[in-house]
Amino acid sequence: VKQMGKPERSVVTTCAYCGVGCTFRAEMKGEQLVRMVPWKDGKANRGHSCVKGRFAWGYANHQDRITRPMIRDSIEDAWREVNWEEAIGFAAERLQAIRDRHGPRALGGITSSRCTNEETFLVQKMIRAVFGTNNVDTCARVCHSPTGYGLKTTFGTSAGTQDFDSVEHSDVILVIGANPTDGHPVFASRMKRRLRKGAKLIVIDPRRIDLVRSPHIEAAHHLPLQPGTNVAVLTAMAHVIVTEGLADEEFIRARCDWDEYQDWARFVADERHSPEALEAVTRVPADDLRGAARLFATGGNAAIYYGLGVTEHSQGSSTVMAIANLAMATGNIGRPGVGVNPLRGQNNVQGSCDMGSFPHELPGYRHISDSAVRQQFEGDWGVTLDPEPGLRIPNMLDAAVDGVFKAIYIQGEDILQSDPNTRHVAAGLEAMECVIVHDLFLNETAAYAHVFLPGSTFLEKNGTFTNAERRIQPVRKVMEPANGYEDWQVTQLLANAMGAGWSYDHPSEILDEIARLTPSFAGVSWDMLERVGSVQWPVNDAFPDGSPVMHADGFVRGKGRFVVTDYVPTDEKTGPRFPLLLTTGRILSQYNVGAQTRRTANTVWHEEDLLEMHPVDAENRGLKDGDFARLASRTGETTLRVTVTDRVAPGVVYTTFHHPATQANVVTTDYSDWATNCPEYKVTAVQVTASNGP
Ligand code: SF4
Repeated sequence: VKQMGKPERSVVTTCAYCGVGCTFRAEMKGEQLVRMVPWKDGKANRGHSCVKGRFAWGYANHQDRITRPMIRDSIEDAWREVNWEEAIGFAAERLQAIRDRHGPRALGGITSSRCTNEETFLVQKMIRAVFGTNNVDTCARVCHSPTGYGLKTTFGTSAGTQDFDSVEHSDVILVIGANPTDGHPVFASRMKRRLRKGAKLIVIDPRRIDLVRSPHIEAAHHLPLQPGTNVAVLTAMAHVIVTEGLADEEFIRARCDWDEYQDWARFVADERHSPEALEAVTRVPADDLRGAARLFATGGNAAIYYGLGVTEHSQGSSTVMAIANLAMATGNIGRPGVGVNPLRGQNNVQGSCDMGSFPHELPGYRHISDSAVRQQFEGDWGVTLDPEPGLRIPNMLDAAVDGVFKAIYIQGEDILQSDPNTRHVAAGLEAMECVIVHDLFLNETAAYAHVFLPGSTFLEKNGTFTNAERRIQPVRKVMEPANGYEDWQVTQLLANAMGAGWSYDHPSEILDEIARLTPSFAGVSWDMLERVGSVQWPVNDAFPDGSPVMHADGFVRGKGRFVVTDYVPTDEKTGPRFPLLLTTGRILSQYNVGAQTRRTANTVWHEEDLLEMHPVDAENRGLKDGDFARLASRTGETTLRVTVTDRVAPGVVYTTFHHPATQANVVTTDYSDWATNCPEYKVTAVQVTASNGP
């Protein structure tokens, strides 16, 4: 910064990493970004930030950025740099030819939770209204799609119930399947402040995450469950609450469906569901589990925070509903300090889901089969929409292997690295006739692409992101796009080349369309955001100033719905060949598959993906700290360096997935959530053996 001299101007914008959504002042000298300063008026971060938002922005100017479009006839050919007109024309011609030959359902696309609401809205609009199919899905498929299903079913809408301020009013904080210290650091700091002031902590996680024991914080209960048994643990907690008379029946009678509650209460009260009966399944001592349940039900305002350790399971949606059941049964919904709070991994997971990125839902979580809703969109867009839900990402890949799905447009997502069973993803992509990748870098997926459209970074665009607390925040252009276009403009070029006739000049016009067509966004506009800074949806006539806490007077669906969630063991079993269970997570300085953070100053930490292993398991295999080991599953194998630690229990190993060299998803399986197909990343039967290195 000293060398660059004093900044000449600054632009206030929103971080493009995690779902906390910190606001920054981007300080500029000429066209050079000098530094990112956390903004004290940012409502999500109040002047705080972490090492990703603060330092990991160098990828915007990295030499690996592709700034000119490229095309090729076949994936065996070399790429050919072309101008935008030729690239868009090439892509449109291929898509139209495939649609003419095989019909619109042979086409599809994936929106990005890294892009703005306006960009995501436009991609799903292009796929539905221009391609003519509902084969649209989002990268949220592989992270929070069970949140969408579970919270919509129980509460009536797919969103966390609280704002971040709410944690200041919690007396008990239950963290399940999340590691906020690494994944959501700025919010974790607020949570820790509340814990240091005396709130009690319950952690349900197979691994002893930092939060369990950190300066001046000691969890009242850490339940180190066997990976894959979340539903059993939550059912056992519910058993204690119901059988010991700790349920808040006054709240339940007033706010929930009483008959459904009674069905659920009878189910959980069955002796089969006691902590003692389930101890062999969960591996959690029954006394600890009883203690945690009593604390949750009687300790005052109790809030639940969860992450991908809840959703990325074959029972992901069941776990989300089990969490919702627990919150309703104890009356912990609808006021500050309580609630159900999914900690979103990506900056705009909430927004991409809100914007109609699922194959069965139009923007605002309205089902495509609802003819009244469809008519509203058809009238506005001047098209006829397919009334049938489209394909999800894994189904698109399956259909491609079967020869009936032919073309895909992928924005801001490296599915070859991020989706499970890498070999199957590759086979699906290879079978397609047209793969269009719209991204910043020539990612791993681009190896199977015929068209590469260069993307723009968050620093190069205007629009909005919606964070984990439903806060819609402006993203403001700091510098001109290196490729000449913001991402929404590229989508518009492609749609128009296929005959759409769109004429958006600024994302604010797209936001106006979103507000016109989406009841929960009805009161949002660019001018409003410039005036108030940010706002939490729903924003409409009923809630003109937004909604920090949802379901305050009644659930969105009317009565809260209890759903019986029976524990069903995963089909992924350990055995003599694969005796250990692998689970995965993140570290503080890196982000997801590392496409951005590995191209920034954050590489200064020289971190690699490590395999955590209990001392007993390591000794049995003759492995020492720092040794290389081969990690193998029924699906594939990779090589990692071992860290010997008692953070994980015997029989459990753990790694991160930030580096393409180690590619943890080579070993993950095809099993997925029964309701949403969210992959079961968190449970893989593996064997670990000594290795000489990669
Ligand atoms: Fe960005 Fe999340 Fe870090 Fe905030 S906590 S700076 S939003 S990565």
